[in-house]
Amino acid sequence: MKRILLWVGVAVGTAAIGAVLILIYTTCFFKNHEFSAATCTEPEICSRCGETRGEPLGHVYSTETCTEPSVCVRCGELHKEPLGHVYLPATCTEPEICARCGEPHGEPLGHTMKDATYQTPATCTRCGFTEGEPLPPALAGKTPNEMEVGVPVPYTTASYEDSDLDVTGTAEIADYRVIEGDGIFPAREGYEWHIVKIRLVFSGDDAKKNGAQAAWTYGDYYIVDDAMSAREDEEGFRTFAADWYGTRVKCWQKAGETFENDWYDRELRFTWEEGVLVPKGYDGVLLILCNYRLVKDATRLYLPASDVLDEHALVFRMK
Ligand SMILES: [Zn+2]
Ligand SMILES: [Zn+2]
Ligand SMILES: [Zn+2]
Ligand SMILES: [Zn+2]
Repeated sequence: MKRILLWVGVAVGTAAIGAVLILIYTTCFFKNHEFSAATCTEPEICSRCGETRGEPLGHVYSTETCTEPSVCVRCGELHKEPLGHVYLPATCTEPEICARCGEPHGEPLGHTMKDATYQTPATCTRCGFTEGEPLPPALAGKTPNEMEVGVPVPYTTASYEDSDLDVTGTAEIADYRVIEGDGIFPAREGYEWHIVKIRLVFSGDDAKKNGAQAAWTYGDYYIVDDAMSAREDEEGFRTFAADWYGTRVKCWQKAGETFENDWYDRELRFTWEEGVLVPKGYDGVLLILCNYRLVKDATRLYLPASDVLDEHALVFRMK
């Protein structure tokens, strides 16, 4: 009997152990959960009973760039689309460039060059880049006898009595001024008057005997193909053209006051003023004193500079 009881005890014990083992391995009765690792969106979850522990990890997003989206570095979930480039406009020398990442795009625009003028070198209309030099003045090096204000210089011209005879006196730019305008020289928008006072004096015996004839004309330092119109209008203006920043600009000449025009105490004197109305800053007008003999048979009052500019001509640049 005792032996039977022992075997019953062993059987029950074994069954109890087996039941406990079954509970352990098939249920979570002893809180022996089998948790999976937490993810971005799920907490730890028991694979047997579904019980959860803790919180989801949450996504960890990368920073979006021009070309890369923002995604979770753990699970790859898309968060934001790429930003796209923000291009700054192209310039003459640089292509479009992304303000954020510096990525270039396309080609530089290239310069848009405007031709050189007498005042400016070839210049890009967009960025101001310049190349080379202004156009060479037509009369550069061809005005050897340039006059200075207040400095009398010898002036030889044909005599009054006999144009084959030369007489020599002095010529002086007695005064030179640049003004907006006055009672004689009316102002004009965008222009200024360059006014020169010329003084010629002949005092030798040859002048006394034969008199003297003055002659002058106008020229332009930059261009040779222009001459002042012979005819003055009813207000006394004569027109001519200057080449100003690549454009032909209308200008005017006008005679001013005459101060001396006769014999004064054994001196034959001519003193008078004339002005030219030119765009503000224009420095190309030349007053040219020449021998009257060159002019006397001319059909026009003011000869082109190229007809009278020789090694004797006196030139004053009204700049
Ligand atoms: Zn569980
Ligand atoms: Zn994630
Ligand atoms: Zn970019
Ligand atoms: Zn440019």
